[in-house]
Amino acid sequence: MSTPYAETMLDTHEVTNQPAPFAGFNAYDADRALVEGVRREGAGWAEPRLRALGGAAGDPDVQEQARLANRYVPELRTFDAHGRRIDQVAYHPAWHRLMTMAYGHAVHSLAWTERRKGAHVARAALSYLWNQIENGVGCPTGMSFAAIPALRADAELAAAWEKPLLSTEYDPRPVPAGEKTGATVGMTFTEKQGGSDLRANSTRAVPVDGGYRLTGHKWFCSAPMSDVFFTLAYVGDRATCFLVPRSLPDGTRNRFFIQRLKDKCGNRSNASSEIEFSNTLAWRVGEEGRGIANAIRMAHYTRFDFIFSSAGIMRQSLGFALHHARNRRVFQRTLVDQPLMTGVLADLALECEAALALGLRVARALDESDHEEAALFERLMTSVAKYWVCKRAPAFVAEALECHGGIGFVEELPLARLYREAPLNGIWEGSGNVICLDVRRALQRAPRTADVLFDELGLARGADRRFDTYATSLKSDFAPLLADEARGRELVERIALAAQASLLLRHAPSVVAEGFCATRLAGAGGRHFGASVRGLPARPIIERASGQDDG
Ligand SMILES: Cc1cc2nc3c(=O)[nH]c(=O)nc-3n(C[C@H](O)[C@H](O)[C@H](O)COP(=O)(O)OP(=O)(O)OC[C@H]3O[C@@H](n4cnc5c(N)ncnc54)[C@H](O)[C@@H]3O)c2cc1C
Repeated sequence: MSTPYAETMLDTHEVTNQPAPFAGFNAYDADRALVEGVRREGAGWAEPRLRALGGAAGDPDVQEQARLANRYVPELRTFDAHGRRIDQVAYHPAWHRLMTMAYGHAVHSLAWTERRKGAHVARAALSYLWNQIENGVGCPTGMSFAAIPALRADAELAAAWEKPLLSTEYDPRPVPAGEKTGATVGMTFTEKQGGSDLRANSTRAVPVDGGYRLTGHKWFCSAPMSDVFFTLAYVGDRATCFLVPRSLPDGTRNRFFIQRLKDKCGNRSNASSEIEFSNTLAWRVGEEGRGIANAIRMAHYTRFDFIFSSAGIMRQSLGFALHHARNRRVFQRTLVDQPLMTGVLADLALECEAALALGLRVARALDESDHEEAALFERLMTSVAKYWVCKRAPAFVAEALECHGGIGFVEELPLARLYREAPLNGIWEGSGNVICLDVRRALQRAPRTADVLFDELGLARGADRRFDTYATSLKSDFAPLLADEARGRELVERIALAAQASLLLRHAPSVVAEGFCATRLAGAGGRHFGASVRGLPARPIIERASGQDDG
């Protein structure tokens, strides 16, 4: 077999004790928790699609495209050579290849095009797999996914835009909707004076023939080469949602001025810009005065997507850590067999499986949200899971990176990129505290939500003594926790852990469920990964996470 390595190239030493590149695997088949979860939550029919994307995640050429797209970051071209404004963003070809691939796999659209049970579970699993490839592209796919319900609320706009937005063809040409074979959506709400508090928006809209004209700025506008943008502006004192096209129906470009691109910590393949609207044409979406409610409805779907984005980041970094630890020897033993490392890896594997199980359960609730109880559960648990999974990701990735030693910190592997990426989902579309306030709002506005939650937790009652004690104490503390805004994080964290334990107790192998209860619900409660592993059945947990158990 030919290899890219020249055995004789180095005169001074042999390269030994370094793993082969982690590639050539299928990220779907190797992930037992994913395969079981997808089947359990009603999307077994999507397995051929998931397997196809799982193969791409393990393809070294695709991994290289992800590296290139983040290495050679987008550039703003404000003017052409002759001084005319063009407001274009130039991307490395790898970005366009990745966009073509993500849209081709329907990462943005499957939930809306497959009108069958499990469609949200299937698309969520696609998003989880995609986020093991490249996270910058996950921004436009997530926004395009989240925009569809809002668009469908307006029959005329839906008629114009739904077809290209749901298309699996990526078409980056700056042309009007009617000419696009595929389109992408951005969402730009955040302004300088306030992002969480959208009432602070200062952009103004005035009605004109054919729509409205907007004047103002947006402080964050990701994926600015999208075809159309949801935004917010005041008509008088009424905050209203609008759709802003980049190209007008007559083929000219709208007045959409990109001021600069943000120089960001992570998500570097994706452009995030600052923009100005100046007499910019826009179409109203929904009633005047309902803008914030409409924006929050869209944000809810992007929050849902972030659960899978952060879980995917965890899974990718875990896969790399397991591969490294299985193929590196230290002090006469394979790294994975050093007791301290065994504990760290098993603890990370537990976290990852729990994140995914929670996400897929929420996705099923979204599929079933015609039923009142499922809708209440989904409303609450999307925010709980968004908070918890996104919060766990940065510490998780840091640990997975550290499992590699120094090479983890080097840019050729994706760990450094994932480390920069990991905090982002916690920030956008509702930073941690804002999400905790949202959880309280869901529980206070619909008090039956708490009953639905405890009914769900009750399904695992009797399976584990530590879980029973934990769930009982959550129930008895619930009212005071909910009453005290300052304890919002405690409330959300305890709901998340109880829900994860309940799911693992019902559906995961007993080593995983028991390991989770032992390390998360009881005992000394170590504050970092690997610090609370007494009695943890680490070896079988690692075998399962590596796809090397009996399956
Ligand atoms: C890479 C990147 C891309 C982005 N892309 C987009 C985009 O495309 N479109 C878009 O609209 N926005 C985008 N954003 C902006 C993002 O959504 C906002 O940054 C986020 O919503 C927070 O708003 P803010 O920055 O104004 O912070 P603030 O609202 O000032 O919040 C600052 C901190 O205060 C906390 N806080 C706020 N209110 C409360 C409260 N009542 N009690 C306690 N704590 C509170 C928050 O949790 C946060 O930690 C992007 C951000 C990043 C980093």
